[in-house]
Amino acid sequence: MIHSLVTGGAGFLGSHLCDHLIEKGHFVICIDNLITGSPDNIAHLIGHERFKFIRHDVTEFVYVPEDLDYIFHFASPASPIDYLKLPIQTLKVGSLGTHKALGLAKVKKCRFLLASTSECYGDPLQHPQSEDYWGNVNPIGPRGVYDEAKRFAEALTMAYHRHHGIDSRIVRIFNTYGPRMRLHDGRALPAFMVQTLNDEDVTVFGDGSQTRSFCYIDDLIRGIYALMMSDEPEPVNLGNPNEISILDFAKTVISLTGSSSDIVFKELPEDDPKIRQPDIAKAKRVLNWEPLVDLTDGIEQTIPYFKEMVRKENSLSNDLS
Ligand code: UDP
Repeated sequence: MIHSLVTGGAGFLGSHLCDHLIEKGHFVICIDNLITGSPDNIAHLIGHERFKFIRHDVTEFVYVPEDLDYIFHFASPASPIDYLKLPIQTLKVGSLGTHKALGLAKVKKCRFLLASTSECYGDPLQHPQSEDYWGNVNPIGPRGVYDEAKRFAEALTMAYHRHHGIDSRIVRIFNTYGPRMRLHDGRALPAFMVQTLNDEDVTVFGDGSQTRSFCYIDDLIRGIYALMMSDEPEPVNLGNPNEISILDFAKTVISLTGSSSDIVFKELPEDDPKIRQPDIAKAKRVLNWEPLVDLTDGIEQTIPYFKEMVRKENSLSNDLS
């Protein structure tokens, strides 16, 4: 049986990846220290004969008795609020955690995939961003803890690939959304969902002219699996090239949730990238991959999850008051 290990397997992306690997018939070992991941994301997998959960911090030595075929290294705080709150952990998991995960791949002689990020491009001076762009990152700014950790993780992965012959893959993930995002992780989609579903003001940072390109979770996971199964060792962008301003994104969420929320403008966070759009020519060429779910369909598929979570949160706060 194929054995896959997913670090950060109880997070938003990691848990969807675990589901996909289970569907593909793998035995899945999920490692998470649950600082930003949640047991709720994997509760439905507990007890499955091909699923094992280990609560562990991947910055510490990882021991796994099983032979492994694939390691997907997804552990990291990943939303701006999280990595501002957890700056040292973010740097440690990108550096020490990637070192441990690569060391495990070396011992197990298995394939390794690093979850990297569009943040490697920083506040980009090239648009759209292709994999050969080296980026425009402020190393000492508040986002530097995440951006530089991931850039280091990429450098370490390529060093293990070149020096130790590790069979490695690197995915640069652009903004992704879907069920299982945390309600209060501070990212645009969860914030707008919670605000619109409660008919509260929707907080747009800056004047909302900054752009992002949002990819639905199922598209991303399909691309990650295809990349792992490919023979491309150098970074590949995965994301949806459909670029939208944050102001239009807020209006779209208001309209699709049928909310009566107003938009209010708040201060733009420091170093917030002004534009972001993946160039996915390489993913199309090498993986024959492109996103299939458009923004309206993706948001509609995500609303029921947020409705349920907001309902639970509101009934809990009613019970407590
Ligand atoms: N944003 C916003 N209101 C919010 C949360 C985020 O206007 O309540 C903006 C944020 O400043 C950024 C964009 O939405 O320009 C996407 O932010 P997110 O945190 O989702 O991801 P990232 O900045 O990492 O792309």
